[in-house]
Amino acid sequence: MANVRQWKWADDPTINDMEQAKLVKDGLDVIETIVEKYSKEGYDSIEKTDMDRFKWAGVYQQRPKDGHFMMRVRIPSGILSSQQARALAGIARDYGRDLIDVTTRQAIQFHWLTIETIPDIFERLKAVGLSSFEACGDCPRTIVGNPLAGIDPNEVLDTRPIVKELEQFFVLNRDFSNLPRKYKMSISANVYNTGHAEINDLAFTPAKKTINGEEVIGFHVWVGGGLSAKPYLAQKLDVFCRPDEVLKVAIGVTTLFRDFGYRQKRTHARLKFLVADWGADKFKEELLKVTGPLESRGEDLTQGWKAGYFYGIHEQKQKGFYYAGLSVPVGRMSAQEFEQLADLAERYGDGTIGTCNSQNVLIRNIPADKVDAFQSEELIVNRFKLQPNTYVGYAVSCTGTEYCNLAIVETKERMRRLAEYLDRTAPQLDTPLRLHMVGCPNSCGQRQIADIGLQGALVKTENGMVDAFDIYIGGTLGENARFNKKLNGRIEAEQLGPVLAQLIGVFAEERVPGEAYWQY
Ligand code: SF4
Repeated sequence: MANVRQWKWADDPTINDMEQAKLVKDGLDVIETIVEKYSKEGYDSIEKTDMDRFKWAGVYQQRPKDGHFMMRVRIPSGILSSQQARALAGIARDYGRDLIDVTTRQAIQFHWLTIETIPDIFERLKAVGLSSFEACGDCPRTIVGNPLAGIDPNEVLDTRPIVKELEQFFVLNRDFSNLPRKYKMSISANVYNTGHAEINDLAFTPAKKTINGEEVIGFHVWVGGGLSAKPYLAQKLDVFCRPDEVLKVAIGVTTLFRDFGYRQKRTHARLKFLVADWGADKFKEELLKVTGPLESRGEDLTQGWKAGYFYGIHEQKQKGFYYAGLSVPVGRMSAQEFEQLADLAERYGDGTIGTCNSQNVLIRNIPADKVDAFQSEELIVNRFKLQPNTYVGYAVSCTGTEYCNLAIVETKERMRRLAEYLDRTAPQLDTPLRLHMVGCPNSCGQRQIADIGLQGALVKTENGMVDAFDIYIGGTLGENARFNKKLNGRIEAEQLGPVLAQLIGVFAEERVPGEAYWQY
């Protein structure tokens, strides 16, 4: 175990309480305490400071704080096997009241777990090569990326080995388990930015450069993106890195964050604040002191942004094989449905499943002669649709008051009902209209990048305080990346459907065909 007291801020009296607690006991140490003590002695034995450290185990207290927990499981790059999917379904069925959520960072989330069950869940995950460790906490979280990696006709190289290398290096690495705040990485070589590069602390996007007369495919490097109450778009560094330099660059950026990131206020600790203060040039200068020389920027190979949607049947880079992009409304499934997906992946594909940051799923590697039968499966026709309706198909939601202690309003079921309402009443468009709902400003549902973002709040009425939403329009990533902008007024939740139908109606009338909301 690294001695966390060695860190240079250990004697700084201005660091916040959480930092002080991390110096006393590293977040990762709580994993052993959960297994050896709390799971045996029960919920009431859990010390408050350790409860805050549970995040390093990928575990959060669920709302209301009555002894139940959520758990997030890392799915690196959103690719898992049918065996892993069955293990996840088994955990949800045995301990998690049958619920499985796909998150906006391609992870899988359970609810309703009790402390007594956590060690068995750790073991079950380990047995199939999965882990919840550091899926939350002030540490490197699930590495998001391209769920089509290895089969993607739109990728310039297969990023699976790189993601695996970084996961193996960072997870449970005590040199990097005490960062100032959460730390999110994205690696994708898909030209449509499947990794949502601009909203990550560190992101790698496809690029090429001629070096010594030879064309090299590699990556450009982005730092300092993040959402929450003060959102920032990442800045692109003047750096090109070869595939075998990604780990070195990731270690360099993470080292700068660990050693220079701010530890005074929790609300001012993400890497984005350091990058904003330093600027991209100084950040590069400091980075090179850690990594040694790196090439300067080459040619960007990104061609736009498709928001992590892959609906329909599409041919892979392997001729004669197809992947299927399926809709999972607001990312929620039952354990049985997840198991049925594993069945389909085995019967029609090679057993691999993709989870998307749009909260949907993929089935990979379906041979041409099985595509028709696959499309006729009852589960595909009626539940996980290849071409979902306009609004249900592009609705994203965070967890909300159902389970989240920070939430102000309910979101998940509300978003589903709202999207169904809009499919019945609002105009159908020839482009997707992405709706994201969040229950508070922390923005786990990535409200800022939505065409229409809905952020929960309360409003005072003659009947008391009621649920309401602020409406934001026009967010996008890619070449024209920008966060959506707030409209005046706060809408009571009950009025949200009619108000949005009207808003979309005006947009439908005034837009030119094919125009997206951010262009309007
Ligand atoms: Fe909870 Fe807020 Fe995150 Fe929604 S955005 S899951 S309400 S913290």
